[in-house]
Amino acid sequence: MKKYDLLIVGAGAAGTIAAYFAAKKGFNVCLLDGKPKEKIGDKICGDGIGSQIFDNLGIPHPKKGEYLNIINGSKLYPPDSHYCITIKDRAQAGYIIDRLQFGQRLMLDAIDAGAELFDNTHALSPLYDKEQIIGVRIKSKILEEKELRANVIIDASGFHTPLRRKIDFPFLDKEISPTDYIVCYREILKLKNPVVVDQNYISIYMDNQRAPGGYIWYFPRNENEVNLGFGVSEKYKDRLIEYYQKYVYKPFIGKEICTKINGGSGLVSVCKPLFTGVANGILFVGDAAMQVNPITGGGLFSSMQAGYFAIQAYEKAEALGKYDALALWNYNLLSQKTIAAEFAPLDLLRVAIQKFPNDVLNFVLKKQLITSEEIIGITATGELPLPIGAIIGKVIRGLSNPSILMDLYYLRNQMQEIKAVYRRYPSSPAFLSNWVQNVRQIYTNVQKKFV
Ligand SMILES: Cc1cc2nc3c(=O)[nH]c(=O)nc-3n(C[C@H](O)[C@H](O)[C@H](O)COP(=O)(O)OP(=O)(O)OC[C@H]3O[C@@H](n4cnc5c(N)ncnc54)[C@H](O)[C@@H]3O)c2cc1C
Repeated sequence: MKKYDLLIVGAGAAGTIAAYFAAKKGFNVCLLDGKPKEKIGDKICGDGIGSQIFDNLGIPHPKKGEYLNIINGSKLYPPDSHYCITIKDRAQAGYIIDRLQFGQRLMLDAIDAGAELFDNTHALSPLYDKEQIIGVRIKSKILEEKELRANVIIDASGFHTPLRRKIDFPFLDKEISPTDYIVCYREILKLKNPVVVDQNYISIYMDNQRAPGGYIWYFPRNENEVNLGFGVSEKYKDRLIEYYQKYVYKPFIGKEICTKINGGSGLVSVCKPLFTGVANGILFVGDAAMQVNPITGGGLFSSMQAGYFAIQAYEKAEALGKYDALALWNYNLLSQKTIAAEFAPLDLLRVAIQKFPNDVLNFVLKKQLITSEEIIGITATGELPLPIGAIIGKVIRGLSNPSILMDLYYLRNQMQEIKAVYRRYPSSPAFLSNWVQNVRQIYTNVQKKFV
């Protein structure tokens, strides 16, 4: 049986980028996906992606057709949506992509670079030699084999990862708590009249009544088409369509004549990433590692970045000729000190925001206790920057509700603290336990404060 250097499960954004960079470095790469080749890339999504990732990775930006619209920034609406905060910076600017065309391009780039794709092929479970994962069991419409082997497996199989829940490794979560993901529903709508508003901005509506635990999005594809959807806490999953009709479709589309191009639901994690994206012989990337921005639900950028990091780490392990967790640990150092150090503070912010009633959200944004510049800072870095001049202004603006300001300061300090802890991610699995205790302590503090 042929043995690969790398076996990548899932040809989504994370898997195709990993396959592309691995093949370009000359590694022997097998890329599996359960879908037929022509459907790879298709996914229920908001379809927004920041442009910076293409420069970071040094790969071409999407071509026309792969993208549908160019976005200059975002508009953030509090529950009282008569006003909004406009956020315009490099990290917010980007594209609304055609999910299938974009996904097909990433897949073809990986194949052109030399990756071997097996579509219609499902990974079922990991294959072990003692403690070390050495391959996967598969079910395939095109391969006779029941098993595939490689030095290292990359699990890029998305939110539902069938592999992770079958792997025992310290602090590797098998399941995701229902409070750590949201259920989403979205429709792509074609309107008869060109009435799509703010065509070059994505609009996000925060509202703990209409979209509890999540938010509503209105992402324009062109002057006639919009990707309209929302995400809510898991406990509302049975009322998803009812809520969509009432709180999303009706207020945003109302009686406008329109055709539904398609609609569907999906799950997205909104929490800190896995404590470890590494086990013996396997790396977890993208949604399989919960590398999604907890505030925006955006995971394309981070999935692609993580796919790239995985190959950097594999290269080091290859040089050592070892593929256990210690040899692959560099992936954790790369991804936890960047992606997770940004997302963990945002997760704390999410925990706090969820406890804020709508009138507090209105107050904070209307009184500019958090300004658009600060939101740019928060979303770009996971930090809530509060220089001394700004503090005085905020005290004056927040006088009628001083406890909110106190809460924001507490939160800001905890966000800074957790970021610093992630930046000190342990250099080996042996020190992971102590580090996890530190992270958990900060969560306990914030949960206690924002009960
Ligand atoms: C409704 C919704 C809206 C979103 N909106 C946005 C947005 O606007 N912007 C943004 O950046 N992010 C958004 N996200 C998140 C984003 O879609 C994901 O973070 C991103 O697609 C993750 O990429 P991935 O490669 O990790 O996983 P996926 O894209 O899910 O790819 C996983 C791949 O693995 C394959 N697979 C699964 N199981 C197996 C198996 N057992 N064997 C073989 N193959 C398998 C699947 O077929 C799939 O091709 C949204 C998510 C949802 C649900």
